[in-house]
Amino acid sequence: MAAPLYGGIEAGGTKFVCAVGTGPDDIREEIRFPTTEPEPTIRKAIEFFRNQEHGQLSAIGISSFGPVDPDPGSPTFGHITTTPKKPWLHTDFAGPIHRALAVPVGFDTDVNGAALGEWRWGAGRSLNTIIYLTVGTGIGGGVLIDGRPHHGMIHPEMGHVRIPHDRTRDPFEGSCPFHKDCLEGLASGPAIEARAGRKGDSIEPDDPLWDIIAEYLAYSLVNYIVVLSPQRIILGGGVMDQQQLFPKIRERVGSFLNGYIQSPAILDRIDSFIVPPGLGNRAGVLGAIALAEEAAHREQ
Ligand code: ADP
Ligand code: ZN
Repeated sequence: MAAPLYGGIEAGGTKFVCAVGTGPDDIREEIRFPTTEPEPTIRKAIEFFRNQEHGQLSAIGISSFGPVDPDPGSPTFGHITTTPKKPWLHTDFAGPIHRALAVPVGFDTDVNGAALGEWRWGAGRSLNTIIYLTVGTGIGGGVLIDGRPHHGMIHPEMGHVRIPHDRTRDPFEGSCPFHKDCLEGLASGPAIEARAGRKGDSIEPDDPLWDIIAEYLAYSLVNYIVVLSPQRIILGGGVMDQQQLFPKIRERVGSFLNGYIQSPAILDRIDSFIVPPGLGNRAGVLGAIALAEEAAHREQ
């Protein structure tokens, strides 16, 4: 029997990516379009899956910007909830997809989706507890505990942790509309841009600003490490295209922990403990396919 075929929707604040396939080596078709109002954007996704000619889909996975309601027992399961992206406030997303295409729908945060995709096919293979942190327009983290995406009360909001902010060295007040100088307010792409007065990708790799950004990210990673005891931390998102951040972050994580966590993962192998996504920039859409796979298995 042929492997079951899945649909995936990587729903970002600026663009949607929809794909049909079974995994990283078998994406049969993919489209991208800008995120506009909810109704026409969701309709475009539905039309893509209706018109694809690769076979019957067994499930669809949605890996979405948020905040979202990922609790299947909740009346607002599959909704985008209190998003700052106004037209999408309290929008049912999984519902219309399910009604139009009549297949099981898996739905989670973009970062839980990416964590699941990395666990299935990328840098998280053969591990149980991993973190996927994206450092982009916002900062968000997905957590897999024992191979399952963690939700808890709603879902983690790892970009909003508080970290030491030395205002003498870094007077930037922070850009988070809720907390000013939380991690996202200090180290996201827009925070970097606001501080420097130019786009992050035009800042030289040897600019001292990257030392400060690496320090903030390292503080947050140390917090996640002591709370969640992850076996690997995967760092993705546009800002992490600044590859020089990786060694800087690893060095600071080691020094902030100061020998307290006696694991070879940190003491001897930190290069393979804090890593870029194994799936590169395909982590998002493959995460959505992995969510579909999970939804199909759940329904069996
Ligand atoms: P999104 O978070 O919207 O899904 P990205 O992960 O690509 O998208 O993040 C976009 C953010 O990352 C923007 O703020 C952008 O300025 C920043 N960014 C993208 N590339 C780089 C780079 N090479 N260096 C620094 N910042 C970058
Ligand atoms: Zn915040």
